[in-house]
Amino acid sequence: MVLAPRPEDLDFILHDMLRVEELAEYPRFEEHGRETFEAVLETARRIAEDKFQPHNRAADLAEPKLVDGKVEIIPEIGQAIEAFNQAGFSAAHHDEALGGMQLPWTVVQAAFVHFQAANLSTAAYPFLSIAAANLIRAQGTDAQKARYLGPLLKGRYFGTMVLSEPHAGSSLSDVRTTAKPDGNQGYRLTGSKMWISGGEHEMAENILHLVLARIEGAPAGVKGLSLFLVPRIREDGALNDVRLVGLNHKMGYRGTVNTALAFGDGGDCHGELIGEANEGLAYMFGMMNEARIGVGLGAIMLAYQGYLTSLDYARERPQGRHPGEKDPDAPQVMLIEHADIRRMLLKQKAVAEGGLALGLWLARLVDRHGQDPSERERIEAGLLLDIVTPIIKAFFSDQALAANDAAIQIMGGAGYTRDHPVEQYWRDNRLNPIHEGANGIQAIDLLGRKATMRDGAAFGLLVREIEAETVTARQAPMLEDLSDQLSSALNRVRHVTSVLTSAQLGPMKMLANASEYMEMMGHLVLAWIWLRQASAAVEGLRGEDGGHVGDREDFLKGKLHTCRYVFARELPKISPLADTLEHFDMTTFDMDTEWF
Ligand SMILES: Cc1cc2nc3c(=O)[nH]c(=O)nc-3n(C[C@H](O)[C@H](O)[C@H](O)COP(=O)(O)OP(=O)(O)OC[C@H]3O[C@@H](n4cnc5c(N)ncnc54)[C@H](O)[C@@H]3O)c2cc1C
Repeated sequence: MVLAPRPEDLDFILHDMLRVEELAEYPRFEEHGRETFEAVLETARRIAEDKFQPHNRAADLAEPKLVDGKVEIIPEIGQAIEAFNQAGFSAAHHDEALGGMQLPWTVVQAAFVHFQAANLSTAAYPFLSIAAANLIRAQGTDAQKARYLGPLLKGRYFGTMVLSEPHAGSSLSDVRTTAKPDGNQGYRLTGSKMWISGGEHEMAENILHLVLARIEGAPAGVKGLSLFLVPRIREDGALNDVRLVGLNHKMGYRGTVNTALAFGDGGDCHGELIGEANEGLAYMFGMMNEARIGVGLGAIMLAYQGYLTSLDYARERPQGRHPGEKDPDAPQVMLIEHADIRRMLLKQKAVAEGGLALGLWLARLVDRHGQDPSERERIEAGLLLDIVTPIIKAFFSDQALAANDAAIQIMGGAGYTRDHPVEQYWRDNRLNPIHEGANGIQAIDLLGRKATMRDGAAFGLLVREIEAETVTARQAPMLEDLSDQLSSALNRVRHVTSVLTSAQLGPMKMLANASEYMEMMGHLVLAWIWLRQASAAVEGLRGEDGGHVGDREDFLKGKLHTCRYVFARELPKISPLADTLEHFDMTTFDMDTEWF
């Protein structure tokens, strides 16, 4: 089965659109260039195809189970992760001195999307471990780094993120797990945690749980949360007091074991504080912002995989005739000939390729944020990351699910069976709007915090970025109309944002339509990223030295036409959303609880 992303698309996004080779101008990446980047991506594709993709269905059919108190997981998952680690992907962006490859984050993400497309639930294990290593590198003491970073980067230890509790999912201010100083610079933890991915298994020498808990006497709410490292196996070799209470049985994403864990049932759960007390949520969010981009990209890769699968099917299945064809003996046409099928293919292509372009643009911002010599550039990159991250997490995970729905629809009855993978893509993808901050919470974050943060500085930078693209696009006569359309959509969004954020509605009323605001912003960003691709495609169609376009002509024309589709069918959705927002629709707010 074909694996997403298509190599020519990835090449186009990385080189024509993002000019990643320029990253080698940062001293940290000076050893690298296009050649090393391509070698890394080729290796990722090969391992994803050979080791991750083949057991995607098997892991779905044989979910992890408890046997004699141990979690049993099909062996192919551990073997795939071993191949991932052997190739150095778990340490890819870390210092060479630590055994890493010192690669730009953009290239690391571009490599990682292959694993997500091939098998999202197997990719979740290294995803969590990479996030844990980033956190320990950023916040750990020298001793903690010396003890834990090496084994994490080699893939001998795995990491987890332990925030949720049975009664506290979205509302982390209600976390009850407590930590008591043990008088020897360590802590003893007590509490119940829920939904913990990768929480217990036998695939690693150790599992490092990064746990949010409240030190006794700490303030209530999120300001009293601290972060602790709780190893499954303690330094003295004893099993820590972390008990597996049970496994959760999910509709999708089944290869990733999901656990309920009890910390300190026996009063002897050892933990180490990471960083400063009461700063736990800030550290965790530092880790989760990158994770949220990764969640968005994971959703997008499932959309991409569904697009390629349904495209192949639509090209090969004969069904019906064109509306004007009255002769019943005329041969049937392929599904792809039908306008309604093309509509659903275009929708998927728009989300999949547009989403990938956005995700890698964000990854490039992570590199700018970390490496640019100018402080101003670094700050601006950070603000853009702040405002666009909830959009890729929420808007794109919703759209990606709708894209998977379209893939099923294109394949008709066949799409609804387990003989084809599209139903699994949809089930796997259904998690993405829920975890890493449910999409409703992301919408509240976007409107309630990100749109107004630093006097609207992040929003202003996004506006500047979009305006700059309209100027670039206007230089190509064939994009002038699209440039104008994006400018007027941008003006509408600016107006709505200022109306919403300056009105004295109070937070409850202001946020009553946060999801509509997210959708409006999402459509704006989708159109913008497509105009960026269209400008790069126009450039590509001019050919090198104004001459040869090579075998990319169809591909580049496909980019231009998909951009036209987005502007004709998706961008106009902004208008009714803006109407709802400008008129402060309160129908949801005013509905009495008793009237349901
Ligand atoms: C398969 C899976 C894997 C997971 N992995 C992990 C993990 O590794 N580590 C971890 O810590 N957690 C993990 N989670 C937990 C996940 O992050 C939570 O499920 C999520 O935060 C939502 O919490 P909840 O399920 O308690 O739902 P709730 O918080 O009860 O939310 C239910 C609904 O109400 C909405 N809602 C809640 N509060 C508000 C509000 N104030 N305003 C408006 N709407 C609101 C939400 O948007 C959501 O739609 C995982 C969950 C699943 C299902």
